[in-house]
Amino acid sequence: MSRRWIQNPNRCADEYLDGIEDFIEFAHRHNPGATKICCPCMRCNNTLWETIENVGFHLVRNGMIETYSIWNLHGEQLDHVSSSNATRMDNVEPIVDYNDQVIDIIQDAFPFASTNINYEREDDVPAPIDSAEFEQYEKLLKNVNQELYPGCESFSVLTAIVELMHGKIKYRMSNIVAITFWEFSRECF
Ligand SMILES: [Zn+2]
Repeated sequence: MSRRWIQNPNRCADEYLDGIEDFIEFAHRHNPGATKICCPCMRCNNTLWETIENVGFHLVRNGMIETYSIWNLHGEQLDHVSSSNATRMDNVEPIVDYNDQVIDIIQDAFPFASTNINYEREDDVPAPIDSAEFEQYEKLLKNVNQELYPGCESFSVLTAIVELMHGKIKYRMSNIVAITFWEFSRECF
């Protein structure tokens, strides 16, 4: 399969999603038993390690490094080399914190949020913040902090929505199928 998809700027395009599927399948095949692999998304830049499932999530969200067309860090051309040289990590407990991932996305969308939180120097002059934008930010933050149901530690309301949207894109569910499924789930809870 051609890997031109890596340069496709439309990360919802069929070609791009098929490409990610192809990469994930490749990573599974060449890193059997690995719980984490290095992530070739544009943020992790093949320097951070993630579960294979999370790597798929990152590739949809951030895009793959555009020049990474030979997957040498994921086993390509290493078929005949001892597995000890392959890029893999075994016996590492996967740490998937969906809330952290969603907070990252929110901070990307609202740069003032991370600026104010991280840099509170006295000589900082904060840029004026649009009140409607701030309201939207507060609403999202409230949802990210609200547990999906009482006692749920894995998902907040917002991370659950993001995961559902991710599943919808990944499995190319039509809107009607997704809405039917979500409404059924809502009835169940
Ligand atoms: Zn990544």
